[in-house]
Amino acid sequence: KLSKRLLKVASYLPKGANFADIGSDHAYLACYVCQQDSSAQAIAGEVNKGPLSSALETINKYGLNDVIDARLGDGLAVLQPNEVNQLVIAGMGGALIRSILENGKEKLGNVELIVAQPNVDEKNVRTWYVVNGFKIADEVILEENGHIYEIIVGVRTSDKYQLTEQELLFGPFLLQKKDRLFLEKWKQEKEKLQRVIEQMKQAKVRDTNKIKGFQEQISWIEEVLQDGE
Ligand code: SAM
Repeated sequence: KLSKRLLKVASYLPKGANFADIGSDHAYLACYVCQQDSSAQAIAGEVNKGPLSSALETINKYGLNDVIDARLGDGLAVLQPNEVNQLVIAGMGGALIRSILENGKEKLGNVELIVAQPNVDEKNVRTWYVVNGFKIADEVILEENGHIYEIIVGVRTSDKYQLTEQELLFGPFLLQKKDRLFLEKWKQEKEKLQRVIEQMKQAKVRDTNKIKGFQEQISWIEEVLQDGE
């Protein structure tokens, strides 16, 4: 059975999806989607050989060799230009997701939907969307095994689309809803930032701009937490 997190990711793919799952590990997501929907097809991309062989194992086990192609390579290098219409990148840091998107831009000509699930540093993903003609269609925050995860769904747009600095950090949809997990996450993030500032001060770090930046973030977080109570 697929994890709650990956089930939610999968729920954003349309029927008849022709998608790539980059960093697919066991290819659980691709196998689930193609099992549920006989008109779907997928490419499972992996940069590491161990996970790739796990992917092949799962694909064989479910007899999905005709519809899922597992490929070894870095990020979007496993794709031909215009080969897929949707893209999933889940379970990595936001900075890595952003660099995978950025380095493989020329492969995304036909991609109309990106479902990203960054584990940390989500702002990177939103910033990449905004700069590259995607707008956020939905966001989800959920908890699994003691971790809080975000899912950020981007769709291609030709509209002028901008987000404020706060929306880039917190997420426009998540900021609207301010649900319990969101407030819990940002309470933790605030405490983390406070500890970092404290450590920087103790270490006599003179980078006052950096400290100021963190303090600004803390004040944004405090605003959001106040409104949420
Ligand atoms: N996507 C699955 C999920 O969300 O459960 C697996 C997440 S797993 C934590 C991250 C996977 O991404 C690992 O299997 C790793 O080998 C792979 N990975 C890391 N960097 C990658 C890259 N540049 N290109 C392709 N795969 C990558």
